[in-house]
Amino acid sequence: MKSRSGVRAGNQAAGGLFRPAHGQKKGPGSPVGAVITLSGMVQGVGFRPFVHRLARECELAGSVCNFSGGVIVEIEGDRGRVDEFYSRVSAEAPPMAHVVDKRIERRSPQGLRAFSVEKSRQVNDEFVLVPPDICMCDHCQEELLDPHDRRYRYPFINCTDCGPRFTIISKMPYDRPLTTMRSFTMCPPCQKEYEDIDHRRYHAQPNACRRCGPHLFFRDMRGNKAEGEEALREAVRRLKMGHIVAVKGIGGFHLCCDATDDRAV
Ligand SMILES: [Zn+2]
Ligand SMILES: [Zn+2]
Repeated sequence: MKSRSGVRAGNQAAGGLFRPAHGQKKGPGSPVGAVITLSGMVQGVGFRPFVHRLARECELAGSVCNFSGGVIVEIEGDRGRVDEFYSRVSAEAPPMAHVVDKRIERRSPQGLRAFSVEKSRQVNDEFVLVPPDICMCDHCQEELLDPHDRRYRYPFINCTDCGPRFTIISKMPYDRPLTTMRSFTMCPPCQKEYEDIDHRRYHAQPNACRRCGPHLFFRDMRGNKAEGEEALREAVRRLKMGHIVAVKGIGGFHLCCDATDDRAV
């Protein structure tokens, strides 16, 4: 994707990290304002973090918020950068996003100085695509297998590029209080990631870790219970014994047994 200004960072990882724009560059023309409305698959796919980073890169002030029909972006700044933002906001959207409709409404600048992620707005009778659950991304897998990572072997690892969506969403717009993650309060390190624009868990609604998120447990028909790593070991042990184990995933139960054991099958 081409950039008219040439400030686009070369290293754009899956998380969509952009090089921060420092200083105020004077572009041609006077400041303008605009309200951009996007609909389609734009919630639960890292869209607000992407918009925030893109606005920072284009040196634009304003805000982004989810509403029940999509995403609203208010921006203002140099005319050329506003136009650049408008074309890049759909062309460079995160991999899971799918912009179906995009509109721009010009308005006079309000004198905004910073960019922020605002609270979601509820609009009745609007329609938005609900994202599916997304399989683990490479970054999360690396962390999962790294003994020095705080999410080492944590089964509910996720980020803005992956993890549960459809099965945890109770209602749109997509925000943690409207998901089944609402009963888990983020620990300080998770909260810090959630608020860090340069982190790939910036505004990741299901963000969690071993300390603050959901846990594994195993229960047999007699009510015996095992937790954490022990739960996993117990499940493996039972499978080897020819038992059938119902594994509760985020989307329902999965019945497992040893496929080479005729009795179990
Ligand atoms: Zn991930
Ligand atoms: Zn945590």
